[in-house]
Amino acid sequence: MLKSVLAVAACLAALSFAVARSVEGGERRPEQAAASAPAPDYDRELFFAVLEGLYSDALSNETVDALTATDPEHGYPANFVWACPVCMPAYRAFLTYRARPHFDWIKGDQDFGPGLDELTLARLTQGAIETRQQELMKLVERWLARRLAAQRLTPDERAAWKLEMEIRRKKGMALLESYKSNGLKGSYARMKACPFCDGANNPFRPEFLDERRDKR
Ligand SMILES: [Zn+2]
Repeated sequence: MLKSVLAVAACLAALSFAVARSVEGGERRPEQAAASAPAPDYDRELFFAVLEGLYSDALSNETVDALTATDPEHGYPANFVWACPVCMPAYRAFLTYRARPHFDWIKGDQDFGPGLDELTLARLTQGAIETRQQELMKLVERWLARRLAAQRLTPDERAAWKLEMEIRRKKGMALLESYKSNGLKGSYARMKACPFCDGANNPFRPEFLDERRDKR
């Protein structure tokens, strides 16, 4: 009897330790990552980071429509570099979010958040393309940082993510340059960088981590 009581107590102690570890945040220790864990599906991760961000920040359909609008001069979505490996999963998430159903049985607000503040909204949807893309970059940066924080990456996993995002940005920028050199005008001619690629790389900059620490 005493033995089984002790065994139960040991189990409970182990369980509460595990729960405490899982809610305290920060990095997982390397030994907590399964040795044979496959590399993440980065397309999927980017898609869900953006989709969750859109839901969390409760972007209105009007805002999504403005952000995904087609550029009349080159025929692609103005804010997304077509075929870029960061932009395309994000674009898919925007369209998926835009197609979310309306539920008649939900009384009141359908969305999960209060929406973006007026200033951010104005900067996102009006004014110069540089301003709009700067705000878009900040959103993507925040959305991806949030998803990664919840995953508590080990240092190795973080390094793999950083490298993958660098490779993807290079591909995206090469595409942007090829569009420019092929004479595509409109937003592409004015874009110095890709807001989605920059937003997906920023969470891995040391300054970004320092800023987050300062805010705690
Ligand atoms: Zn891109």
